[in-house]
Amino acid sequence: MTNVISISETTDVVIIGGGVIGLAIARALALRGVRDINLFETARLGTEASFAAAGMLAPQVEADTQDDFFTLACRSRDMYPSFAEELREETGIDIELDTTGTLYLAFTDQDRKEIERRYEWQSRAGLAVELLSDADARELEPSIAPALGALRFPNDVQVENRRLLAALTNSIVKRGVITVTQTTVQSLIMEGNRLTGVQTSRGPISCNTAVVAAGTWSSFIQHSNIMVEPVRGQIVFLESMPQLARHVVFSPRCYIVPRRDGRLLAGSTNERVEFDKSVTAGGISSILQHAQEISLEISSLPVTDTWAGLRPRTPDGLPVLGPCGEIEGLFYATGHYRNGILLAPLTGELISEAIVDGVVSPLLAPFSPDRF
Ligand SMILES: Cc1cc2nc3c(=O)[nH]c(=O)nc-3n(C[C@H](O)[C@H](O)[C@H](O)COP(=O)(O)OP(=O)(O)OC[C@H]3O[C@@H](n4cnc5c(N)ncnc54)[C@H](O)[C@@H]3O)c2cc1C
Repeated sequence: MTNVISISETTDVVIIGGGVIGLAIARALALRGVRDINLFETARLGTEASFAAAGMLAPQVEADTQDDFFTLACRSRDMYPSFAEELREETGIDIELDTTGTLYLAFTDQDRKEIERRYEWQSRAGLAVELLSDADARELEPSIAPALGALRFPNDVQVENRRLLAALTNSIVKRGVITVTQTTVQSLIMEGNRLTGVQTSRGPISCNTAVVAAGTWSSFIQHSNIMVEPVRGQIVFLESMPQLARHVVFSPRCYIVPRRDGRLLAGSTNERVEFDKSVTAGGISSILQHAQEISLEISSLPVTDTWAGLRPRTPDGLPVLGPCGEIEGLFYATGHYRNGILLAPLTGELISEAIVDGVVSPLLAPFSPDRF
């Protein structure tokens, strides 16, 4: 990771936060020809929620309605094949986009009703979804436990998010973005209602444009008026060689994500514990208990690591995307909650378009910072 010691005192665009969102925006801006970008990161690039994530690109699997968020999420998911290919060509890093698909299993009568409802609305809407019997599901994945039926979502896929972070970092450094790590943006500097710079822990820097992409810490930047709270998610890494499943497999209580290198991720929890990133006995035991409902074979796999990260959640659970109506030159791209990996390509695309062309896509309107 790059750590540039001296910072320029003036820049065109400041990006606050070096998670998947800040990195994707920096790359998209560079692709649109912005030459002078400084990205500030409190710690090291890509080490917080984006590193902790499971990498699922799965808008359909838990969706009960075709709302604005669903549209946004599907659009971003569908950008991944070209996004992955471009990153591979640019950086030589394969982000391991795995297009096997996702299974959602029903184990109780209530689960069964849920999958029937979901199948009905999604198939009526013309979305790719298959209703499977237990036998069909186990033909696809022989290691899963007997279920009361399943849904298969062929377009809900997964990516190796840690490789994605490495590829984005490599790409922006190649494109001349200045990354300033171990440096916190403390406040926004304004003249009237116009942004003129930011105050960092290494001193002030002038800029006309800044993007708040600081994940769950976005509310700590002085004069930034967005409320984002942390929601802890824990993950258990198991070793599974040969891999226990090819699909990402969900139940209403848990998911397992098979990785190419033999890691099997099981997650997760949803806990409001402020900024505590501890892995707890209760968290791990509940994940493992629910994972064994998906496959009893989980019980004999070695646990190789455990992890926790803080998902950034806004009061209405939706991301905050676009220009700030009150402060000219300020943009928000935060609050991605459970879907920041999924939403990264489209967030980069639409925020960079808003900054460079001054065009705010209608897709962003429902997620405007001015809604609060
Ligand atoms: C267990 C778990 C599983 C998940 N699974 C998935 C999944 O399968 N699919 C999916 O799409 N999403 C998933 N997510 C959600 C996803 O990880 C987040 O939505 C996403 O990572 C948010 O990205 P971000 O860049 O906004 O935040 P982060 O990755 O947290 O990055 C924010 C960065 O900003 C820095 N920062 C903060 N304040 C400042 C400041 N003032 N100055 C400078 N830098 C600052 C931080 O140090 C941090 O590096 C999961 C999350 C967790 C925890």
